[in-house]
Amino acid sequence: MQTDTLSISQDPMGAAIRDFHLTGKAGRLRVLSSMFEEDEMPVAHLFRTFKDMPRTEQRALEEAYGNVLDIGAGAGCHALELQQQGKSVKAIDISPLSCEVMKERGVKDVECTNVFCPTFIGQFDTILLLMNGTGIAGKLSNLPNLLNRLKQLMSKDGQILIDSSDLKYIYEDEDGAFDIDLNGPYYGEVDYQMVYRNVKGEPFDWLYTDPTMLKAVCEQCGLKCEIIEKGDHYDYLAKITLAI
Ligand code: SAH
Repeated sequence: MQTDTLSISQDPMGAAIRDFHLTGKAGRLRVLSSMFEEDEMPVAHLFRTFKDMPRTEQRALEEAYGNVLDIGAGAGCHALELQQQGKSVKAIDISPLSCEVMKERGVKDVECTNVFCPTFIGQFDTILLLMNGTGIAGKLSNLPNLLNRLKQLMSKDGQILIDSSDLKYIYEDEDGAFDIDLNGPYYGEVDYQMVYRNVKGEPFDWLYTDPTMLKAVCEQCGLKCEIIEKGDHYDYLAKITLAI
């Protein structure tokens, strides 16, 4: 499990975020994967405001209360909205360039750190992980580690608001049947590598979790998981609290 932050020379998303912040536009942020065709991440999307957010994210911002921790905060779109609503939020990210941009955009409490870094401590009433928050676990086998870590950072009456998508639609054939190898790795495990101009990031694992699996792993970790919002495309928002 990685516990460190990115170096500037290997932070393509951060470089794209910085360009967009400074000039209002960015080049292509390419997303490579051993499993899919090359894709692109629209950099402007990382700067979305409330009205352009999917319903699952809007709901997460509405549900957020107390002191909030935004993990993997990116360009700070959720943190800025929460601040505007008068809520108190700390934003963390492993990308030093994104953290600089968040500060420049007015996010008051920013720390460049990895959620798994043992020196990062705190007690938060709401923990946000948005834009496929389960991705940070990387592999299904690491999901209990992530959830247990979040449990440490959550106050007793706190909540985790995390979104993901059920990737099963990728494996759907024309008849509507799902062609998934149940003996293979979990179908929500993918790998990505990002490239922006001449900056190439290291490949990384990224986990999409279906709701049934997320609920089962939460239960193993002594947590209760409720799906509180469903999106248009197999995406959903979960609210996780301590099981009593
Ligand atoms: N939440 C933002 C950005 C999502 S992209 C949004 O919705 O727009 C995922 C972000 O998580 C990236 O900025 C990446 O740098 C950050 N990240 C990935 N692993 C992390 C970790 N272990 N700890 C903290 N941040 C992490």
